[in-house]
Amino acid sequence: MKLLVAVKRVVDYNVKVRVKPDGSGIDLQNVKMSMNPFDEIALEEAIRMKERGQATEVVVVSVGPKQAQETLRAALAMGADRAILVPTEERTEPLGVAKVLKVIAEREGADLILLGKQAIDDDSNQTGQMLAALMLCGQACFASAINVGDGKLEVTREIDGGLETLELPLPAVVTVDLRLNEPRYASLPNIMKAKSKPLSEISPDDIGVDLHPRLAVVRVSEPPARTGGRMVSSVDELLAALRDEAGVLKGA
Ligand code: AMP
Repeated sequence: MKLLVAVKRVVDYNVKVRVKPDGSGIDLQNVKMSMNPFDEIALEEAIRMKERGQATEVVVVSVGPKQAQETLRAALAMGADRAILVPTEERTEPLGVAKVLKVIAEREGADLILLGKQAIDDDSNQTGQMLAALMLCGQACFASAINVGDGKLEVTREIDGGLETLELPLPAVVTVDLRLNEPRYASLPNIMKAKSKPLSEISPDDIGVDLHPRLAVVRVSEPPARTGGRMVSSVDELLAALRDEAGVLKGA
């Protein structure tokens, strides 16, 4: 089984992002960037499949600026075999990325394409679903367990009020949720080894995909500042505040 894992370079989840003064987007100057956390989980699962002998190769793909090479090197250091960068200076959108991943998955003959359930910068939660639709193959989103069978997968996914288990024939698209696993840290020897692992570039033109954004960001704004809390002296006062000030209780 050959595995393709999509990894996006995003603002590190520890960074408190700042909105640009003109409201046109997020200020990315001197901000720490990292691999999207859900993609680390997808990659960890792929590496575990290879370690268990269920997969032959793990290929990671990123669509993004030249600096996304660092993200791909981090993926190689975690244990991916090979990396592909599709360079673009454009802001990437789920449909464009899904079109790129489809072409690469077909060229590579990938049996399973693993993605994060969402990228934490745009929170779109669309790329995996669009990719499965373009590839006309099965999808399982928000995986919290993946079992590999003969030519098929059993995926447990988190849904409202419980867990659902799906069986999918391969090839398939799976997006992963937080509870699937805990990604490993890359060891120093593996970081050194990753420097000599193959990292190739394929231009969007070569793939035949137009990555120009189709959506315009109209405005980005800070959430309203939180007002401070206050102590109440009785349950009645609390209920009154919830009913009259917060408007979250009716007729209490
Ligand atoms: P999204 O639909 O944007 O929330 O992203 C869902 C998943 O698609 C991410 O967790 C990544 O696995 C993948 N993905 C999205 N954008 C990119 C990108 N530019 N390069 C590589 N993978 C991406």
